[in-house]
Amino acid sequence: MVKALVKYAPGEGNVEVRDMPEPTPGPHQVKIAVHAGGVCGSDLHIYHNDIKLALEPPVIMGHEFAGVIAEVGAEVTGWRVGDRVTAETAASVCGECVSCRAGNYNTCAQKKLTGYVYHGCFANYVVVDAKRLHRLPDNVDFVAGALTEPLACCVHAVLELTRVAAGDIVAISGPGPIGLLCLQLVKASGAYAVVCGTSQDAARLEMARRLGADQTLNVQQVDAVQALRDMTRGEGADVFFECSGAPAGARIGLEMVRRLGQYTQVGLFGRPFELDFELIAYKELRVTGSLGQKYSAWQRALALMARGQVNTGVLVSHTFPITAWREAFRVFEAKEGLKIVLTPMRG
Ligand SMILES: [Zn+2]
Ligand SMILES: [Zn+2]
Repeated sequence: MVKALVKYAPGEGNVEVRDMPEPTPGPHQVKIAVHAGGVCGSDLHIYHNDIKLALEPPVIMGHEFAGVIAEVGAEVTGWRVGDRVTAETAASVCGECVSCRAGNYNTCAQKKLTGYVYHGCFANYVVVDAKRLHRLPDNVDFVAGALTEPLACCVHAVLELTRVAAGDIVAISGPGPIGLLCLQLVKASGAYAVVCGTSQDAARLEMARRLGADQTLNVQQVDAVQALRDMTRGEGADVFFECSGAPAGARIGLEMVRRLGQYTQVGLFGRPFELDFELIAYKELRVTGSLGQKYSAWQRALALMARGQVNTGVLVSHTFPITAWREAFRVFEAKEGLKIVLTPMRG
């Protein structure tokens, strides 16, 4: 048996550490000894029962991880015990729908995710299909490697779905881990980056400046929309990334982006809310949402990490054993840290 963090029933809470049987890989799967697992905002949504993705308790939580292959299924080729890896979260997709056939399996309506439907990484071992594996670059440690998944989500949003170019003024709302990963990708693209947050985000805005933000704005202290106009002779930001998942972030974004600009929704709000939607028509905005990631985004994320153009490890503020998950979730929700990593019990 192994210790694992389990969402054991639908509804609010219903999470606990349980003894679970050690998993065995199927013929096309590998078993990975987990070394680090990132706590994601969506794990808190699973805890609070306000996620719209398929969830099938009882299930071991956690979908951001890195580790070492401990066992290889009989039919698996190209992977060996001891390989350092991370893996995509799309544990199963239908393979038949238009999204799947076009390689956009992140939007498959029947997508079932690791940590939601299939057992996840907040445990000693996780089993995944070999086709979802990615090799960790030698210079990327397990903690940094566990953040490949959120980075791949941001690569999909910033580099695959949005056009960011040198000379653009890009505004980002929400300086949490996702916002700070998007920031690094915006800077790697050569654009000018403005990161917006609240007074509670003071330390995160400081981190944003360390990571290359050209300006940070506390939206509770300054008129951020006006500040963007002042920077751009009245035009507004070329591109806006909403990473806070707060309605105020979306409202500010539609205001601050210029006519013919781009607005990309990355954060999840967890509930419907009112928005001045016709600004999209008046400004001829190109608006897109971004959900998860796919193979191409993983490859690009790992390349950026290998070359040191993005630093994921610097975002990790706390590491807890899985048994201290309550404290980890509390620190996360209180925004006392930035990115939190859980490590399995060994020995
Ligand atoms: Zn995640
Ligand atoms: Zn499909």
